Amino acid sequence: MAAEGLVARLCETIGCQNSAKLQCPTCIKLGIQGSFFCSQACFKGFWEEHKKIHKKAKAEKVQDEIKELQSLFAGFRFTGDLRPGKVSPKRTVPDHIPRPDYATHPEGEPASERQLRGSTNIKTLTDEEQEGVRVAGRLGREVLDIAASVIDVGVTTEEIDRIVHEACIERECYPSPLNYYGFPKSCCTSVNEVICHGIPDSRPLADGDIVNIDITVYKNDFHGDLNETFLVGSVDEKYKKLVRVSYECLMNSVAEVKPGTRYRDVGTVIQKHAQSNGFSVVRSYCGHGIHQLFHTAPSIPHYSKNKAIGVMKPGHCFTIEPMINEGSWRDDIWPDNWTAVTEDGKRSAQFEHTLLVTETGCEILTQRNTGQPHFMDSLY
Ligand SMILES: [Zn+2]
Ligand SMILES: [Zn+2]
Repeated sequence: MAAEGLVARLCETIGCQNSAKLQCPTCIKLGIQGSFFCSQACFKGFWEEHKKIHKKAKAEKVQDEIKELQSLFAGFRFTGDLRPGKVSPKRTVPDHIPRPDYATHPEGEPASERQLRGSTNIKTLTDEEQEGVRVAGRLGREVLDIAASVIDVGVTTEEIDRIVHEACIERECYPSPLNYYGFPKSCCTSVNEVICHGIPDSRPLADGDIVNIDITVYKNDFHGDLNETFLVGSVDEKYKKLVRVSYECLMNSVAEVKPGTRYRDVGTVIQKHAQSNGFSVVRSYCGHGIHQLFHTAPSIPHYSKNKAIGVMKPGHCFTIEPMINEGSWRDDIWPDNWTAVTEDGKRSAQFEHTLLVTETGCEILTQRNTGQPHFMDSLY
């Protein structure tokens, strides 16, 4: 303490020899050492000159971030035109909102899910649990509708993520993707050739893009999961067709959901429709059981001739979420270990619902109130 008091700091203002105790708040925020002033008057008087060092520090920070990104992706051969942007720090969720186990794990490991890994046992939900997934599905839908309303040319996926995060908190929900196996954001945003698990970043959406937004919310111990692909500005007819066919693939398979249907038959319906339109079906990512656990049995492939285990029964709750590609069905992954892209860089589209099997068919828990997806008018 005494030593610190002995350090004589002089005011930054050129020509001022007064000792200085006030530190510039912007410099503190930017981590710039020094920058002391004797008085507010001197600080204001020297501002025009002083603020240049803020500008310089900010530019250096941007350069550092670009270098970091470049080193992460060094030597990686991108399959298409999309490039990663800057990912902002993880957002926080207020303490009073209940969260799943992985939310507080350092690597985001879901202990409860891992306990059941490899099990093909499909849970039949009690009436109370069914009400739990209904609520989560409805709230997930509300959040996706809010995200949909801000999609536009120039909007960054980071901004969409912020809006999603806040909409979850307003509903006292935890955004399920946040910290799941360490995922850094509150939703997935998958642009053009990204198949799924795109990380929201600083890239502004461009005219003609397609972007999938995948939302999962956790409310009162239950997850609700859905996604839709949206059109940005004016989208080429061939991509509109890809989006439309992806939606039809989902809804054609939903029509088959009822007691007695084998899980392996879901993929047959999807691949038939995709293929007859000249498109292919992603094989690496599947629909999944969902309730108190985010991803669990059954695993539901979207391609035909799969070996999925199990038969649908009332009280089963799961997602169907076909990813349909313009070209090859094969996927590749970015060095961020999340972003799944098509191997040929051609586009991919997806739609997802959470479904609850009833005595006669199913309830679409994530259905929009109009019964139609967004952008339906532009698709047909
Ligand atoms: Zn999802
Ligand atoms: Zn899902």
